[in-house]
Amino acid sequence: MDALPEFELLRPTTLDQAIKARAAHPASRPLGGGTDLVVNIRRGIVAPPVLIDVNNVAELRAIRADAKSIEVGAAVTLTELAEHPDVLKFYPVVAQAAAHIAGPTHRNMGTVGGNICLDTRCIFYNQSEWWRSANDHCLKTTGTVCHVAPKSRGVCFATFSGDLAPAFLTLNAEADIAGPAGKRSVPLNSLYIGFSRQDQPVTETLGDGKFYLALRPGELVTHVRAKNTTGLVSAYDKIRIRRSIEYPVAGVAVALRRDGNKLAELRVAFTGTNPRPVLLEGTAALCGGELNDHFFKGLDELVRDQIMAMKTTFTPGHYRRRVAGVLARRLVTKLFAA
Ligand SMILES: Cc1cc2nc3c(=O)[nH]c(=O)nc-3n(C[C@H](O)[C@H](O)[C@H](O)COP(=O)(O)OP(=O)(O)OC[C@H]3O[C@@H](n4cnc5c(N)ncnc54)[C@H](O)[C@@H]3O)c2cc1C
Ligand code: SF4
Repeated sequence: MDALPEFELLRPTTLDQAIKARAAHPASRPLGGGTDLVVNIRRGIVAPPVLIDVNNVAELRAIRADAKSIEVGAAVTLTELAEHPDVLKFYPVVAQAAAHIAGPTHRNMGTVGGNICLDTRCIFYNQSEWWRSANDHCLKTTGTVCHVAPKSRGVCFATFSGDLAPAFLTLNAEADIAGPAGKRSVPLNSLYIGFSRQDQPVTETLGDGKFYLALRPGELVTHVRAKNTTGLVSAYDKIRIRRSIEYPVAGVAVALRRDGNKLAELRVAFTGTNPRPVLLEGTAALCGGELNDHFFKGLDELVRDQIMAMKTTFTPGHYRRRVAGVLARRLVTKLFAA
């Protein structure tokens, strides 16, 4: 295992101090639990000279959840989120997603901000320095070619695998962001820009597996917030190779509302497939009726059209897309019957 390089660790206690530290050190990185970032530093994938530990910033440490809304600070740990009684009661999809992340020790350290902003993953990227250099690197780091899609013309397809994002997407959540230019809020869905379109250049709003977040220089995610919807039931599930501790082969969050025997509203979101978490578009057209063959055929078609799993993991892309579709069907069936 490679040794950690030198870096400076700053520990602000207020958000203002954290933002000023980010501005003073443009090459710095925010540090949550470090359960992904420190691994990547050790592997020589990134080498930030300064880490800004946000865990002592009191205003980022709170969970507020009741029947009306949920607000979670970026420095809240995954264990705290998974075990919070009002999150379990009113927003089960969030608690279940948090409980499905990695193993217990990672969840004790890992934070909501780190999970929401989790780096994208690929078998050619999450490797040691010597492994990557033997392959002449790839364009997510210092190389010039994508080994997954050598004809990608500068586009990276590394996969977003955070479990919390799809859960919050089904609640139509917003992300609060703070930076040198002040505070702003965006729909969580627009924080993720990993569209990986080969026919269009990578821009500030149309990114790929390398440029996957719409954060501006020096910005931090401070909170994730959502309003509750009366009658909405929700759940999260994922398939992973090792059930005790593993990123998703595919992860699915579903939230739906019933009106009698009819489906009134449906929200489905995925992780572990595309360079961004995917909130399925077009589900409104599937609502208004009962769950029947026609409904499931329509759901399968939306998954087939919008889930673009590439060979970025040891599990083949077409298998991950099948898994995503099967999980979605199962969760919708279970929640509709609940
Ligand atoms: C063996 C193993 C298994 C894992 N399994 C899973 C899994 O099943 N599901 C899963 O989702 N993850 C998994 N992970 C990854 C990781 O443990 C979690 O995603 C965790 O939630 C990351 O949070 P963290 O606070 O440790 O992030 P860090 O490692 O501290 O940070 C991750 C990234 O987010 C940035 N960041 C942190 N906080 C903020 C902020 N407030 N604003 C902006 N950027 C920020 C960091 O700069 C960094 O780029 C696994 C990791 C390991 C080692
Ligand atoms: S998808 Fe291509 S460019 Fe992106 S990390 Fe993998 S090999 Fe590198």
